[in-house]
Amino acid sequence: MKPFQGNFTLQEPIPEAAIDAAVEVMRSGRLHRYNAAAEQQSPVAALEAAYADYQGARFCLACASGGAAMALALRAHGVGAGDKVLTNAFTLAPVPGAIAAVGAEAVLVEITEDLVLDLSDLDAKIGASGARTLLLSHMRGHLCDMEALCDLLTARGVTLIEDCAHTMGASWNGRKSGNFGLAGCFSAQTYKHVNSGEGGLLTSDDPDFIARAILLSGSYMLYDRHGAAPGPEAFASLRFDMPNMSSRMDNLRAAILLPQISTLDANVDRWNARYDLIAARLAECPLLRVPHRPAPERYVGSSIQFRVPGASADMLEAYVTKAAALGVDLKWFGRAEPVAFTSTHHSWRYVPAQSLPHTDRVLANLMDMRLPLTFSLEDCAHIADILVHCAQDLSLPGAA
Ligand SMILES: *Cc1c(COP(=O)(O)O)cnc(C)c1O
Repeated sequence: MKPFQGNFTLQEPIPEAAIDAAVEVMRSGRLHRYNAAAEQQSPVAALEAAYADYQGARFCLACASGGAAMALALRAHGVGAGDKVLTNAFTLAPVPGAIAAVGAEAVLVEITEDLVLDLSDLDAKIGASGARTLLLSHMRGHLCDMEALCDLLTARGVTLIEDCAHTMGASWNGRKSGNFGLAGCFSAQTYKHVNSGEGGLLTSDDPDFIARAILLSGSYMLYDRHGAAPGPEAFASLRFDMPNMSSRMDNLRAAILLPQISTLDANVDRWNARYDLIAARLAECPLLRVPHRPAPERYVGSSIQFRVPGASADMLEAYVTKAAALGVDLKWFGRAEPVAFTSTHHSWRYVPAQSLPHTDRVLANLMDMRLPLTFSLEDCAHIADILVHCAQDLSLPGAA
């Protein structure tokens, strides 16, 4: 088998229009979001307006990172010290990190074999913990049954905040991910769906909530200079009470992001062409299992996950090593030690230890792979061949 030569962490270059806009910001010297010429909309305010429009949300706040968006959202919702916040047991560290940042305690909810929140475990844990907030992480872009989730949360009086780091551009039954609860939190970090290195966006339809978030983000008394914010009346009773958490976005990053919003939907199609090609090839291999994607879900295939059921830890180690030797970078969530960006709840020691046997069983043989847009469809076919070839080399139960 010929090794694959591509680079799994290589994103596409920043579009020329974004580079030009960034250079213009640097020439102006006006990098701080509130440093705009009189009567001019700052690039951050322009980004907020454009993203609110794209998302179909009334309000948008641009901030320093996706993690900052989540911490602002929790605090603006009134979550504080000692409160319990439900979240997925399978997610990335910024999610339990944001819960810890507001002094709250994460209550971890099991995931299913299709990598989405287990709604029956959620129901049980709402009852057991008394938590009133769910920070739902659509981890690796897998959406649970959003109508069933919302019905459950409404019945139990639990508020939903969505972590859409992997679902920017995704939807469920035509409704955009991020629009199902009080707020949506998005990331503009390099490996997500728009790229300014770091950055975050927080959306909501609730004027009181977003006014709190804007003040918390560090707006000083300049909250009237936002691109998608409520009027001054929303801030009048809050402006002396919200601490400044200094989580603003700057004009340089906003200038880089603005032209990327208009190409997002086209990029979703490009990601999905790559994802669908690999998923179809892997699905033909009886040794590998690709999560089921329900019909109401419009996903963004910026990464792909699959499981190798029945393989021991030694076999999985051998599988990852073999694939790496052929140039394919896999992340294995079942590894005992966290590597690079990949960690599990066992390594979040700031969260009270919790027993999550079902999640552990799913993660034990879960593989995860990035799909940057720098890969061609031919590259993807080559990668799929390598993944199947390496699986056939393992002496797995069921191997021909
Ligand atoms: C990347 C990521 C975030 C936010 O990350 P930032 O680096 O803070 O922008 C949140 N949730 C998940 C699941 C992520 O992968």
